[in-house]
Amino acid sequence: MKKARQSHLFYQSHGRRPVLDQARGIYMWDVDGNRFLDGSSGAMVCNIGHSNETVLEAMRRQMDKSTFGYRLHFETEPAELLASKVAALSPEGLDKVFFVSGGSEAVESAIKLARQYALSIGQGKRWKVISRFPSYHGCTLGALALTGYTSLTQPFDPMMQEMPKIPAPTAYLDGRDPDDPATGRYYADMLETCIQEEGPESVLAFIVEPIGGASSGALVPPAGYMERIREICTEYNILLIHDEVMTGGGRTGRFFAGEHWGVSPDILVFSKGFSAGYAPLGAMVAHNDIVDAVLADGGFLHGFTYAGNPLACSAGLAVIEQIEAQGLLANAEKVGDILKHHLSGLMERYSFIGDVRGMGLLLAFELVSDRETMQPLPREISAFNRLVEIAYSNGLIIYSRRTRGGLEGDHFLVCPPMITSESQVEEIMALLVKSLDTFER
Ligand code: PMP
Repeated sequence: MKKARQSHLFYQSHGRRPVLDQARGIYMWDVDGNRFLDGSSGAMVCNIGHSNETVLEAMRRQMDKSTFGYRLHFETEPAELLASKVAALSPEGLDKVFFVSGGSEAVESAIKLARQYALSIGQGKRWKVISRFPSYHGCTLGALALTGYTSLTQPFDPMMQEMPKIPAPTAYLDGRDPDDPATGRYYADMLETCIQEEGPESVLAFIVEPIGGASSGALVPPAGYMERIREICTEYNILLIHDEVMTGGGRTGRFFAGEHWGVSPDILVFSKGFSAGYAPLGAMVAHNDIVDAVLADGGFLHGFTYAGNPLACSAGLAVIEQIEAQGLLANAEKVGDILKHHLSGLMERYSFIGDVRGMGLLLAFELVSDRETMQPLPREISAFNRLVEIAYSNGLIIYSRRTRGGLEGDHFLVCPPMITSESQVEEIMALLVKSLDTFER
């Protein structure tokens, strides 16, 4: 295949990208034969690596039978089996599964289910969904209204309902000790203050990424934070929604990140690693009481045409089976610790790395102009694109974002697939050091 000269596709403003030809394991090749190490699993998607033969075989088997059955016309075996598997992996009481085709759709589903639940139990005054700044919950207008990421949301402000936001727990910027439970309480109490200011009777839900992803770069909450958030939501009868679109599916070393703190949300959404890039798939998992009330009150007024199609579900099932068969949760934890240790070591070599954070294989480092003040790099030397481009030229793909709590900053997510071996960690580090050396010059 020849590289196309002119493309009719448009995405964002970055320049042309290599044309993808093949992908295997943690590597990808373009049509000119250049090899890239997929250091961010796409966008934290391809958790079990590319072209897993067992998954492909399961999908081929399903394709030979049927690729689509509209959910209001047919139930399908892959959807039923996958729903029971998801329910078994989800926290106790969350047994009702609603399939979608991506993360934004999953978030939309959660907020609409929450609203319908409030109506069905006679609490129609509740409609506000509190979220955090920074955060990312999706690009559709409902999910975007919850997103704390000014450059993405601002143009659409007049078209969206303004929703209350509290600061994310950026202890590393605020000089607070993340291991001190007082820090967790300090940030969690901001939720209670916000609820009181908004009027508790008007608040429907609080949505949180257990570990901040695209917007805050693998932001792990301080000790006690998630537990206190749960208590506050229960106290005020507010639904707690965990947005595990990025963390769900095992990347942090547990299938769901909420397990690290032993907290259960009322509604849980996940997507990216669910089908790990083999098909568009996401899910909302909700507490039985919520779904029972909504169904008893006339049904859930919501749904996407492609939701739960048997091909995507066959991929999702096979991906979960591969995670279990290959022990990938344990590998993500083990290899993630090694990678984090190496990344932390970079702080000795490069004074412009201000922080290294994350859990399992959801890891990030942040570039600053001064580690003492944690001031970001000036805009004109922003690393946002430059380091990514240098890494590209060295055959390493890393994911970057330019935003953080209130300030502008550059962070880079280093999140290779969960199948990454210890020797491949060495390879990632060698490519990263080569790229950072060039960036420094
Ligand atoms: N929530 C979170 C936490 C995400 O990371 C993302 C995607 N980055 C989304 C929602 C939206 O997912 P999608 O792009 O699949 O719509």
